[in-house]
Amino acid sequence: MSQTEHDVIIIGGGHHGLTAAAYLARAGVDVCILEGRHEWGGALYTAEVTAPGFCHNIHANFMEFLHVMPFFQDFDLPSLGARTIYPEIQAGIAFKDGRPPVLIYRNDMIEETAKSFAVYSKHDAETWRDLKTKANQLELIVSAALYTPPLKWNQGETPPSPLLPAHNLFSLFGLDEEMAFKSVRDCIDECFESDEVRALLYRVAIEFAAPSLEWPGSGYFFLFACLVMPGCWRMMVGGTHRLNGAMVTACIKSGATMRESSRVRRILMEGGRAAGVELVDGKRLMARKAVVSAIGLKDTFLKLLGEEHLSPYARRRTKNFKDGPDQVLGSVAMALHEPPKYKSAKWDPGIDRAWYQVVGYDSAKDVLDYCRAGHCDRIPELPAAAVWINSLWDATQAPAGKHNLTGWYFFPRASALTEAEWEEVRETYNEKFLTLYGEFAPNMTRDNVIADYLHTPLDQHRGMRMREGDFGHGAMSLDQMMGLRPFAGASHYGTEVPGLYLAGSCTHPGGGVTAACGYNAVKVLCEDLGLPQSVWQNPARFY
Ligand SMILES: Cc1cc2nc3c(=O)[nH]c(=O)nc-3n(C[C@H](O)[C@H](O)[C@H](O)COP(=O)(O)OP(=O)(O)OC[C@H]3O[C@@H](n4cnc5c(N)ncnc54)[C@H](O)[C@@H]3O)c2cc1C
Repeated sequence: MSQTEHDVIIIGGGHHGLTAAAYLARAGVDVCILEGRHEWGGALYTAEVTAPGFCHNIHANFMEFLHVMPFFQDFDLPSLGARTIYPEIQAGIAFKDGRPPVLIYRNDMIEETAKSFAVYSKHDAETWRDLKTKANQLELIVSAALYTPPLKWNQGETPPSPLLPAHNLFSLFGLDEEMAFKSVRDCIDECFESDEVRALLYRVAIEFAAPSLEWPGSGYFFLFACLVMPGCWRMMVGGTHRLNGAMVTACIKSGATMRESSRVRRILMEGGRAAGVELVDGKRLMARKAVVSAIGLKDTFLKLLGEEHLSPYARRRTKNFKDGPDQVLGSVAMALHEPPKYKSAKWDPGIDRAWYQVVGYDSAKDVLDYCRAGHCDRIPELPAAAVWINSLWDATQAPAGKHNLTGWYFFPRASALTEAEWEEVRETYNEKFLTLYGEFAPNMTRDNVIADYLHTPLDQHRGMRMREGDFGHGAMSLDQMMGLRPFAGASHYGTEVPGLYLAGSCTHPGGGVTAACGYNAVKVLCEDLGLPQSVWQNPARFY
């Protein structure tokens, strides 16, 4: 008979849930992790959605944090199958009239990026050299900020200002501290003068979760999304699901009980504390010490727990926690005979091998208009995207000689369109994109496409339970970041409900494949359960 009682039960087998499970199991805690789908890993997902043999990462593709991620190091995930490739040319933008592309190379190739920027502006090349050198030196600070729980605060206490560390950071870059209060766009425009460089940086910034480009107060995201993160991106050999596979193996080897196809319907309360869960098939599993939720905030508190167990404050804050409108993607996937060959490649063939290729925008204003559409619940008129062709770097991801294109459109929230409207988008938008694509890369015709697919925000909302299709499980705007995520009394992973913890992306530091929410939750749990710091603390690392 299967066990019905454990020390700790974790809800949700995305990468944060897996992180928490692996560390707790290694500490000797009897932990059981429950995943609703038949597969582990949540958005660490690879599927043959176009044609057999073509792997598409229709959710996460860029791994920005593997080189600093504790889980990756402490459990030696490469030895469990999580091998990586670190593409030299990380990102690039091509133009319709075939003028030179702009390319960003990886962290150890600052000079190559500067050369590419210099084609348009010597000033921008100099600025990149200076700011990127400083960004590389800040890696430890950034890692510590990610992998440390934010300051604890409770309702009624003075909220911590999430801006404080940000404006200190600006001065480390030699930039004015006031820039932390500006928008990402303001910061890009202030630092870089070329329209072509700006266009690339605008798109890079939104890709990596900068809240609306034009919101004042989110300038801190300029540092992370434009300076720290581009240059760090790794890809998983064989597709993103290989990282998930290694994480699952780490959990099993550490002794966690793993139950997939086990959707939780209810969190059970006994004596005023979270005491277990009930699955959709009616089975009950009891938790002696804690229930840890690594799924969305609203699902945890409103659906599984029930608002009657929440204080009016927590109820109000949960209902008003924002999902979208800025981090909402549609994923385009195409099986190709040959990779795109850009007009701009005549100036620099690097654009044809850039891992992340920005296509469809001819100016910085094009990117702004595009972002405004999604932000205001409209499908962008300009069917532009950013795409990657992983098969250029890893031949295992497509049949011999063929190529797998995957990419992202920024779309409005799932609820902005009806189901029928989303179906119409699915039927028509890739075709519009392809027509535009051909103007930038003439070989991108229908004949070059073996099959294609579009995954909509409504699909993310339903399939992955990412509300509104928000890839961060909640907007990462300043009002929902760091100590303010998700709200007072819950931002430190414990909640006002005794025995109930949060470990998903609705906590600090938010969305992205960081494994930080799960790791930070473990730190807090270890303290509460009286487990030694050695469970998570590697002596060679201070976070
Ligand atoms: C299109 C897209 C592109 C992205 N690209 C990138 C990228 O390139 N790089 C990057 O770093 N990040 C990227 N992200 C973001 C990143 O994938 C997510 O932020 C991250 O995967 C969230 O991890 P998580 O563990 O919090 O949640 P999830 O990955 O959403 O996992 C949650 C899990 O909980 C399960 N679950 C939900 N409800 C229940 C229940 N009631 N019972 C049991 N199980 C349940 C779900 O099935 C799911 O498996 C992308 C996301 C999307 C959608």
